Amino acid sequence: MLVLKGTGIFKDIVVGRLMFYERQLVRIDREKVEDIQREMMRYHKAQEQAVSQVHLLHQLALREVSQENAAIFQAHHMILEDMDFNGYVLDVIKNQSVNAEYAVQQASDTFYEMFSSIKNPYLKQRAADIRDISQRLLTILTCGKVESFEPSEPSILAADELVPSESLQIPRDKVLAIITKFGSENSHSAIIIKDRNIPSAFGIQKLSREYQGHLAALDSYTGTLYVDPDEDTLHRLQEKKQREEEKRLGMSYLIGKPNRTIDGREIKLYASIVEPLDIEQVLRSDAGGLGLMRSEFLYLKRDDLPSEEEQVSAYRELIRPMNGKPTIIRTLDFGAKKMIDLSRRQPEVNPALGFRSIRICLAMPQMFQTQLRAIYRASHYGPVSILFPMVDSVEQLQQILEHVRTAREELTRRNIPFDPNVRIGVVVETPASVILSSDLAQYVDFFNIDTNDLIQYTLAVDRQNPTVNSYYNTRHPAVMRMIEMVTRSAHEAGIQVAVSGDMADDSRLTEWFIRIGVDILSVSAASILPLRQTVRDLDLSDDTETGH
Ligand code: PEP
Ligand code: MG
Repeated sequence: MLVLKGTGIFKDIVVGRLMFYERQLVRIDREKVEDIQREMMRYHKAQEQAVSQVHLLHQLALREVSQENAAIFQAHHMILEDMDFNGYVLDVIKNQSVNAEYAVQQASDTFYEMFSSIKNPYLKQRAADIRDISQRLLTILTCGKVESFEPSEPSILAADELVPSESLQIPRDKVLAIITKFGSENSHSAIIIKDRNIPSAFGIQKLSREYQGHLAALDSYTGTLYVDPDEDTLHRLQEKKQREEEKRLGMSYLIGKPNRTIDGREIKLYASIVEPLDIEQVLRSDAGGLGLMRSEFLYLKRDDLPSEEEQVSAYRELIRPMNGKPTIIRTLDFGAKKMIDLSRRQPEVNPALGFRSIRICLAMPQMFQTQLRAIYRASHYGPVSILFPMVDSVEQLQQILEHVRTAREELTRRNIPFDPNVRIGVVVETPASVILSSDLAQYVDFFNIDTNDLIQYTLAVDRQNPTVNSYYNTRHPAVMRMIEMVTRSAHEAGIQVAVSGDMADDSRLTEWFIRIGVDILSVSAASILPLRQTVRDLDLSDDTETGH
């Protein structure tokens, strides 16, 4: 048995085979070119393609990691548009009459050196970004293959170092853990891997390719890797894992208990998910339902659109394990970039206010119909509700309901079974929908207030712009009054109100949500039991009819 030391990143204990991640390194030769203009054009095209890839990565990152950490890919975008970097590449092509690949490699080496010698740790990180971006440009220019990690069984991924985009794209179901030879605890890759909850250790300097395929045990609490572990070590680590698990499940005594305050008020706690893999945590969390299935996972990581069959089976896999508990599926709700590519429209300056979400669905009726039919078909496997995002008027809602009717008629015509009682809800996230909430309530079965976007649109704060982060106030009185207003409108019309987004997870607001009468909080699975505890500790017996 060999014992190698590094630094633990995301803590856990994992046993599996070591598989080295082989990044396809493109070989770059210096070649003389005759037509310099053509070569510069080649670079411009590659740069444009890289920009659109980085856009997609940013979208993916917004789903996979925190918003703050997803900004790493905005930095990549900035490098790709950076005059100094591009100027350097173009100068090398022009002055030396050489190929674009060679010029990118030169720029990469120069800027990498420059950033790695800076003392400031933040700027030092830029070196890894330069490498990531250059690799992307070179892969595009050489039509190279982007490496993926596809071991025959889930394994411990070993690598010299991972660049941020690799850390984001490594498939979670194929990796048990990630270990690297280089890389620091504060690197962008470490931040992303930690956000993705992948057990990991970096800086294992003695890691060598000769251990490929060997059994290994990683204890990332201490940053130790045991290659060919002996029985005693395996036994000791298993016991440690169990102890840590018990510590983590310290709240398991709350499983099966009601979300009821001391004075007897109840609120439902549902879990929201970003991708299918999250379902396991939802099941462990004892959530009362799947409160928000963000269906975007079906559309990301691919160039075409998901078929009806594919969608039905994806939804079914999530509905079935919920075992009769309600599942709320939100129709496609993301930004324009991907759909712009698919529908060949112009890029947008202000995507949060642009062609997105329900607007895309209404403009692409076939795609919308496919998703609606798939959701209705999936309703055959358990109680399902549909949620329509970004609705801003009664007319728009009526248009959506017309689409629903068409989808149902088509299934009836095809003799395909579905639940006729699928509940229909709208996401309240624009100030327009708040003001019209009592009108909208006449047409639907429930409201879901998406607080992250409601804050963005009410306070005019771009969720993705770190510069205005301090204006993103999750307890702004305007937003809180809007939530009260929507809840009142809903209850007057006899329909339910759910709240999702970061405000729902905030235990400091739980008492207020209960006081104003919110019916459901849709939160991350990890928040279910802690919030149950918060609810159970509350005593609101001093509350009056009008409340606060
Ligand atoms: C929200 O906006 O509050 C929300 C839950 O949706 P998403 O985070 O997917 O935009
Ligand atoms: Mg939203």
